[in-house]
Amino acid sequence: MKGWQDDLARLETRGMLRSLRSVAGAQGAHVSLAGEDVLLLCSNNYLGLAAHPALVEAACAATARFGVGSGGSRLISGTMEPHVRLEERLAAFKGTEAALLFNSGYAANTGILQGLCGEDDLIFSDALNHASIIDGCRLSRARTVVYPHRDVAALEALMAQEAPGRRGRWLIVTDGVFSMDGVLAPLPELVALKERFDALLMVDDAHGTGVLGATGRGTAEHLGCLAGIDLHMGTLGKALGCCGAYLAADRTVIDILINYSRSFIFSTSLAPAVPAAACAALDIVDSAEGARLRRSLHRNREVFAKALQKGGLDLLGSATQIVPVLTRDPAPTMAAVGALLKRGIFVQGIRPPTVAAGSCRLRATVMAVHDEGELLEAAAAIIQVLETGA
Ligand SMILES: *Cc1c(COP(=O)(O)O)cnc(C)c1O
Repeated sequence: MKGWQDDLARLETRGMLRSLRSVAGAQGAHVSLAGEDVLLLCSNNYLGLAAHPALVEAACAATARFGVGSGGSRLISGTMEPHVRLEERLAAFKGTEAALLFNSGYAANTGILQGLCGEDDLIFSDALNHASIIDGCRLSRARTVVYPHRDVAALEALMAQEAPGRRGRWLIVTDGVFSMDGVLAPLPELVALKERFDALLMVDDAHGTGVLGATGRGTAEHLGCLAGIDLHMGTLGKALGCCGAYLAADRTVIDILINYSRSFIFSTSLAPAVPAAACAALDIVDSAEGARLRRSLHRNREVFAKALQKGGLDLLGSATQIVPVLTRDPAPTMAAVGALLKRGIFVQGIRPPTVAAGSCRLRATVMAVHDEGELLEAAAAIIQVLETGA
């Protein structure tokens, strides 16, 4: 234990120790932390669906009918009616032939990349892709070429350079919305490149699904290229308020994953309440209520980001509900998190290895269910804390 204890002490000295904070009650605009009411500004529950009555009811009804546990992995006895129904719903939602559920976004990205790619293949991966994509690239054993963040010209040059010796399949993989800075991937340009080089394009739309696009289909809908994406990965745990993830794609791709994807094959399937609730979430996304929630989210995001920008803060180019504020070093970042908590505002500080050294940030996430006035107060508090340190 001694070596590990020293390691933890070193992390603490450097302002890098991570620890858990327990939230009491259901997820909403406010939660209770250690008995204190705080404004929740770090949740991915963007549309406020995590405790929505329709989802709670769907989960309870499915639990009453199907029980709690699924009892097995999908290929054994764990494929139940709610799993199948949600997969059909997700395929229709994204306009693909089929879809496949995974137990989390992490399991999806590792399982998709491992299941589809092998030693002869080449993966082109954005430098700021989510950790689960990075791990998926490693698990696949495919050679991975990391291209500079959102740099289409650099990617094009790398693809041209690799073309002469080409052997296997090529796959470009990118976040739709980059999770630590809230900027969008250049999807239309990536679609053009993948067509030119006969590659597949996979988009991880964890933060875009349900939120972006006129009907909430995500980043590709927002950028007008939904049909150009081959592999639509998304999660159920963010705007859709549940947990789990999916890939929507051609039937052949899904069948390959059912046969080869280890995170899919060797894991007990989601509790039936989860896909039942996720179907209810998709119903809301597709309804007038969903459109209204998306409008509130976008309005709240504008109000909050504009106030922070007026205070002279660097939001790192954020264009979405993920609003980072650059703070650079770990110690002042975590001091600001503490000072804001004392004022009843719960934001997270993000440090390496999640982001590069010197680019620590406060990462705020806005929700549709936030009150505009409270967001303005929170922005004022963030500006003041970063100016004065208290
Ligand atoms: C959150 C996230 C994941 C992981 O999804 P989980 O369901 O939380 O495991 C994957 N990719 C991106 C871009 C994410 O933001």
